[in-house]
Amino acid sequence: MSDRIILHVDMNSYFASVEQQANPTLRGKPIGVCAYLHPGGCLIAASVEAKILGVKVGMTVEEARMICPKTIFVENDPAKYRAVTSRFFKILHELSDTIEHYSIDEAFVDLTGWVRDEAEACFLASRIKYRLKHEVGDWLRCSVGIAPTRFLAKFGSDLQKPDGLTMVNLLNLDQYLSFADLEDLCGIGRKIRQRLERVGIRTPLELKYFPLGNLMRVLGKNGYYWWNRLRAIECELLISSDTLPKSIGHSYCVPDRVNREGNVEAVLTKLVEKAGRRLRAYGLFAESLSVAVGFRDEYESQSEWKRFYQPTDDSFSLVRESSALLHRLWHSKPVRFLAVTLGKLSLPDGQMKFEGLPDPGILRVSKSVDAIRDRYGEHSIVFGRMFSLGDEAPDRIGFRKIVGRGYEG
Ligand SMILES: [Mg+2]
Repeated sequence: MSDRIILHVDMNSYFASVEQQANPTLRGKPIGVCAYLHPGGCLIAASVEAKILGVKVGMTVEEARMICPKTIFVENDPAKYRAVTSRFFKILHELSDTIEHYSIDEAFVDLTGWVRDEAEACFLASRIKYRLKHEVGDWLRCSVGIAPTRFLAKFGSDLQKPDGLTMVNLLNLDQYLSFADLEDLCGIGRKIRQRLERVGIRTPLELKYFPLGNLMRVLGKNGYYWWNRLRAIECELLISSDTLPKSIGHSYCVPDRVNREGNVEAVLTKLVEKAGRRLRAYGLFAESLSVAVGFRDEYESQSEWKRFYQPTDDSFSLVRESSALLHRLWHSKPVRFLAVTLGKLSLPDGQMKFEGLPDPGILRVSKSVDAIRDRYGEHSIVFGRMFSLGDEAPDRIGFRKIVGRGYEG
């Protein structure tokens, strides 16, 4: 097993708690933070009080209001959440030199070498909780997991919420695994659970003791990773904030207005443009592009994917290809969600393939457009099809990974 000490911190009901912190009259009440204030807007966070009454993240404002009519809805305020995150992460940066900003409200801290043992790590965890309350905001709570690996630290912080502190080690691991649900393991969703259940695996503990060879027949290479993860063998190292991102994406909860005004494609263009701009800021090229669309009348979203023969970073190709992917999925049904992801990112290696070589003139245009926007603002120059858009797809926070390195941590 690994003899490292990893700590995972996860802020509880984050956006809702920050709203309650900022406005004390909201404390102790069911709060829903939504993408935008409209019956069709989705909830991106719910306060502890709202969750107890059955309100869930992902519901629309209308659905949440039906389940709990007393819910108070607040439109999300990304700048406020980022400011609080930045103050909190600053505290974490005092504890170790290896911190991974996993998302707006989660971070991993590698304490190996910074503390003598697990007991000292627990003491540090209680200090973190204390400082969060006293230096950032008295209404804020976090759950902490301490374990020899990154995966088990996250598993630990999820076990007890809110305000939990769980230490997972080789002595108590099996006990925790026997109580947990398969989907409590980060990375196991409904589909993988069904595949596991088909071969008789119903709990994480059964997954751990399933023979490795058989597990690999069920899950492929991932079977090997799961076998390791549940034995506290590290297979995922921390990605600290100066490491380059593996993917860059933007998503947006689409208001009804956009559907009515026929601006779905324009919003997609804007998302692709923002992603392309970040890609170029890193000096990276993307080899794959995916577009996901959620429809109003379907719970699960659908996606299409494309791999480029030649990695690219120019907006014209990205906009053209994403719009082609969109049209494979979408035939003018009302849309509630759009997402774009640029994947398989790499630094240019100078080994350009011959076929489909991008026109260097086109690449220069994308970079000049970036320069104009840097100087004169985001709206100074836009794609023709975005022209009808006002402030649609404004500043939004990603649900999962933060890929930008712009943390004032
Ligand atoms: Mg959280």
